[in-house]
Amino acid sequence: MRRKEPETESMSAATTTRVHLVGAGPGDPELLTLKSHALIRSADLILHDDLVSAPVLALAAPQALLVNIGKRCGVKKISQPEINRFMISSARRGLKVVRLKSGDPGVFGRLAEELDALEAAGVPYEVVPGITAGAAAAASLGVSLTDRRSSSRIVFVSGHHASENERREKPDWKSLAAEDAALVVYMPGRDVTAIARDILNAGLSFDTPAVIVSHATTPDQRVWRTTLGELPNSPLMDAPSILLIGRSLERAARHRNAQILALVDTVNRTDLQRSVSP
Ligand code: SAH
Repeated sequence: MRRKEPETESMSAATTTRVHLVGAGPGDPELLTLKSHALIRSADLILHDDLVSAPVLALAAPQALLVNIGKRCGVKKISQPEINRFMISSARRGLKVVRLKSGDPGVFGRLAEELDALEAAGVPYEVVPGITAGAAAAASLGVSLTDRRSSSRIVFVSGHHASENERREKPDWKSLAAEDAALVVYMPGRDVTAIARDILNAGLSFDTPAVIVSHATTPDQRVWRTTLGELPNSPLMDAPSILLIGRSLERAARHRNAQILALVDTVNRTDLQRSVSP
């Protein structure tokens, strides 16, 4: 957690309130911290991402204003500079502003840009952490991402290539994918074929356990357990989904995909049968 009192604060401190940039966790409201919960309940204005779950938003006070400023399918409803301006002007008017981000605000959440804007405007802020999707997905599978027998590091990486205006580079899998790493791929996209191919090319073996978790910790959670070699045969999983790869997922991979046959109705049965085969 980090507090920042900008030098210019005294100029505007009379009415300017501290903006809280808060982690909403992966979806289940029981996974909020007590601090996040209290801030959500007492906020006048909640600027939230699309991925913040309805049960979390329902904790806001009845008179609070909730504004969804998130991205959906890569398209932002309002631009980042507009978000920043709105946040700053609301804090200057003395409103209790909560910038609510899914998971942990500092993990693939453009937090740094918002902090820069607040700092430049002389608006004080506080970052409140949340449970990131990768940790939540691993917990829901009953696995430990690190395992001193097999996994000595965790790599949080974004599989998402295109950003708003520019093309981002692909992750450098050769430096990231190692036998002793647990790869936690945020924004893997619906088709994980390219990611699987690149990681195989980087040297990981076909039988490395791989698990896709969609809507982790919510009633819509779906899990697909497979291997890196079989990953391209996975059914399409609803967003948001996260891809976990590595030896420490062995325990999760031991369970069969049987339950998903009953649960997923959107998948192509032929692909499913292929993936379920040993
Ligand atoms: N700050 C967030 C990540 C934002 S990036 C965090 O710490 O979790 C958005 C990506 O997070 C999604 O594309 C997906 O890969 C992942 N994600 C967020 N919530 C999720 C959930 N409930 N289940 C699975 N993946 C999730």
